[in-house]
Amino acid sequence: MRKPFIAGNWKMNNNIRESVALAKALTEKNKNITDRDIIIAPVFTSLSAVAETIKGSAIKLGAQNMHYEKPGAFTGEISADMLTDAGCTYVILGHSERRLLFAETDIVINKKIKCALANKLLPILCCGEVLEEREKGKMNEVVEKQLAGSLDGISEKDAGQIIIAYEPVWAIGTGKTATPEDADNMHKFIREYISRRYSKTLAAAIRILYGGSVKDSNVDSLMSKENIDGALVGGASLNADSFNRIINFKK
Ligand code: PEP
Repeated sequence: MRKPFIAGNWKMNNNIRESVALAKALTEKNKNITDRDIIIAPVFTSLSAVAETIKGSAIKLGAQNMHYEKPGAFTGEISADMLTDAGCTYVILGHSERRLLFAETDIVINKKIKCALANKLLPILCCGEVLEEREKGKMNEVVEKQLAGSLDGISEKDAGQIIIAYEPVWAIGTGKTATPEDADNMHKFIREYISRRYSKTLAAAIRILYGGSVKDSNVDSLMSKENIDGALVGGASLNADSFNRIINFKK
């Protein structure tokens, strides 16, 4: 049985005060949850304050990005050990906004995954096709290439620490959601790829999240699918009530 995993990516939203207020509301509403993993990923400047707010609760902290180098002359970047120092357990890597707006390649994402794992940070590895690729029927090819590049040189043991998030780019922040069937098909394809690349055992155990306009109104139907183990949520994770409903999805 794969434990459900619900992650909120707050993107470049919420100052420290707003981040703490949202984290507080979520911890209060989800004091006794043990049957699912809950992660929130605020902006860097809010990490320490949110870490204090969620201390002792079921909610864990994630960062939205990091550099793969050790601390040094990398203006504007942040290192893996700085994220663990701030209280992070997870880091989102390869988000489509990083790929498309900040030119991150699979080679860079691969280095970041290796660095995160070496520093005991659990990566949430994002993949997903753009609309044109889906319309041309190339989505499986695109996602396989992203995974192959991002996981290059990563052992099965290390891959077992990774959470995969399938996020079709055309569904992110657009209000368009993949149908539960289309999302499930892609998750099945990803699981088959993991089986070929590593083993059936890892394919059965690895958690694959869906991301792309997940809302309180569609989370239940997405989570009812066999291969969907959780959600990576952007917009709807910024509101305590809607994210709380997503956390408490019903199968
Ligand atoms: C995301 O940021 O990963 C995301 C899926 O955003 P949204 O839920 O707003 O589509």
